[in-house]
Amino acid sequence: MASSTAGQVIRCRAAVAWEAGKPLVIEEVEVAPPQAMEVRVKILYTSLCHTDVYFWEAKGQTPLFPRIFGHEAGGVVESVGEGVTDLKQGDHVLPVFTGECKECVHCKSEESNMCNLLRINVDRGVMIGDEQSRFSINGKPIYHFVGTSTFSEYTVIHVGCLAKINPLAPLDKVCVLSCGISTGLGATLNVAKPKKGSSVAVFGLGAVGLAAAEGARIAGASRVIGVDLNPKRFEEAKKFGVTEFVNPKDHDKPVQEVIAAMTDGGVDRSVECTGNINAMISAFECVHDGWGVAVLVGVPHKDAEFKTHPMNVLNERTLKGTFFGNYKPRTDLPDVVEKYMNKELELEKFITHQVPFSEINKAFEYMLNGDGLRCIINMEA
Ligand code: NAD
Ligand code: ZN
Repeated sequence: MASSTAGQVIRCRAAVAWEAGKPLVIEEVEVAPPQAMEVRVKILYTSLCHTDVYFWEAKGQTPLFPRIFGHEAGGVVESVGEGVTDLKQGDHVLPVFTGECKECVHCKSEESNMCNLLRINVDRGVMIGDEQSRFSINGKPIYHFVGTSTFSEYTVIHVGCLAKINPLAPLDKVCVLSCGISTGLGATLNVAKPKKGSSVAVFGLGAVGLAAAEGARIAGASRVIGVDLNPKRFEEAKKFGVTEFVNPKDHDKPVQEVIAAMTDGGVDRSVECTGNINAMISAFECVHDGWGVAVLVGVPHKDAEFKTHPMNVLNERTLKGTFFGNYKPRTDLPDVVEKYMNKELELEKFITHQVPFSEINKAFEYMLNGDGLRCIINMEA
């Protein structure tokens, strides 16, 4: 049975960013029905990732306003557009900022999750089908963000950016797998691939970095060195298998030299989860020559340039990068959810705050103050 709202415009609450860096405003928006290959989703829980904050601040990113941010979330399918056969009303889904069309060379490759059609595009604020927005206020369009815009009670998403998950999985927990936790975990397990007994440095101990540390623990790394400028992070990080801590502010020499001294020449693997260009360079230069692999995860300033002496590469260090931890969202994410259901993966410890949707700006304050890890925003409260 189709939902009573199928095919109709839905009026609902959304948190609109009218201007860069200004508090979001809860507005009544109109959400158009899903078009071909699109799905309208009722969002139940969403959380805040640093990527939302960067684009809302728009200090180092292209500004696009008014916009509805949000990409880490869980919800239920309300209705589907023409051509959608994989999902139906009532299915539980996690939206993902990077999609999987299942047809292109990337989707067909075992090595890539960079779908040609649906890979992340931070500057596009419209749907790819007709280049229009599905959100409006009194006929004025409001832009989308990374194809997800989950800071709205209802949103329209391309079917290729939705993972269908176990309906028994609690959405207030597994919503954090829709971006940050899967990204960090996959960056270590799928990309850095540390060997048992090895050493791993993690730069940035927010939710993404701590998920990367968790990946190192699961892979059997014996030393996990956490690097952060915020000393509040260190206490929290102990719960995530981080064994040693370095605050670059406590040292006169570059942090890569501090780590080289601690590890007899460098770590076996490093994962950068800060978005800071200097941390990216340090994360590369702190891996051991001969075999070290560094993985970049943080979203950089739009004008950032990565500079290192080519000799650092010739000396047999490898630099890699990843979106979404190399997981294919539709194919792989349901299995990551099962890891939580089987208790192989703990999510509760990443969730440090919860707020009702009406207080979404508090979630921004927590992140800007470096307070806690993930803040779950309850759309129905
Ligand atoms: P967060 O703000 O919770 O954590 C970032 C941490 O990095 C903070 O603890 C901060 O103190 C620390 N930090 C900042 N600059 C540093 C420096 N120079 N040296 C050491 N530590 C430093 O953010 P988060 O939500 O965990 O996201 C982390 C990064 O990952 C962001 O850049 C985000 O945009 C990015 N991200 C990327 C992907 C992807 O698919 N590649 C997905 C999600 C998030
Ligand atoms: Zn994110």
